[in-house]
Amino acid sequence: MSVLELQDLHVTYRSEGGPVPAVRGVSLSLERGDTVGLAGESGCGKSTIAAAVLRLLPKGTEVSGKVLLDGEDVYAMKPGRLRAVRWTSAAIVFQGALHSLNPVRRVGNQIEEAILLHTAVSPRAARTRTGELLVKVGLPADRAQRYPHQLSGGQRQRVLIALALACDPKVLIADEPTTALDVMVQAQVLALLEELQREQGLSLLFITHDLSVLTTTCERLAVMYAGRIVEQGPGREVFAQPHHPYTRALAAAFPTIGDPASRMNPAGLAGDPPDPSALPSGCPFHVRCAVATAECSSLDVGLRVAAPGRSAACVHVEAAHV
Ligand code: ADP
Ligand code: MG
Repeated sequence: MSVLELQDLHVTYRSEGGPVPAVRGVSLSLERGDTVGLAGESGCGKSTIAAAVLRLLPKGTEVSGKVLLDGEDVYAMKPGRLRAVRWTSAAIVFQGALHSLNPVRRVGNQIEEAILLHTAVSPRAARTRTGELLVKVGLPADRAQRYPHQLSGGQRQRVLIALALACDPKVLIADEPTTALDVMVQAQVLALLEELQREQGLSLLFITHDLSVLTTTCERLAVMYAGRIVEQGPGREVFAQPHHPYTRALAAAFPTIGDPASRMNPAGLAGDPPDPSALPSGCPFHVRCAVATAECSSLDVGLRVAAPGRSAACVHVEAAHV
């Protein structure tokens, strides 16, 4: 059984301007010990998916489809069960959370509090566990005594990961956890997540707008555009040989590390993803697509199998006979 499974998830926000269909039919599964990457430009619905998994969306948001954690329907859970699940089954390192630690409390106390609130252990055991968690994320245990402002950005990010791991979740969702950090520190934080994933059998859903970050890390990669998955497959394959024109553009937009040619000449991708409340007709990418033809403005094809283990939602992708 998958530790996390999304079945035809739809999320529609309410806004003054009308409904905002931010996620439009996403199916995705995460197996134990797996790392799955979720990529796509800003505004494609990635954070909405993260919030939907633990029912953290604003009141009034419409959700349909299913979110299953270890086979249990998250949207059918009673409040008490949901609170427990939020720390012990799945935890999220939120996008832009570097400043979310309480500035006037020592970081160790903040981790201890989470442990005490959600697990049945003594204060002394919580303190010991906090020290262990800090060591696990590569910080000396005495950093527990520091206040957030006494730590660097990279160290604060490690504290946030320790906090997410406080109650030993099976699934960790990391929503752009490294974007605010410099490249060296990003690499260290990624290496840490990989290590935790290997050592603890943690299942990781890694969200980023930077496709190149994901290729080495992920067994599977899903690329989102305008609230849908438009391409899916093994991480390396998707990046090295994209089927969907959007993935191709994304892959080209990020220079390959160490390849001077690609750094000098990134293909780039003009324009922005569409506003979900005013999607273009047909394939929502056609207005920016380099290979769009007349039919693309009226035909919106779903994911089709392009090769074994690979699928893409583009009318120009030959459906493979497998
Ligand atoms: P990503 O994480 O890929 O950048 P998001 O999931 O944050 O994308 O947002 C997807 C879309 O939903 C965007 O168009 C965004 O403006 C819209 N959106 C996000 N939160 C809300 C909200 N609370 N109310 C209305 N629209 C929202
Ligand atoms: Mg986001």
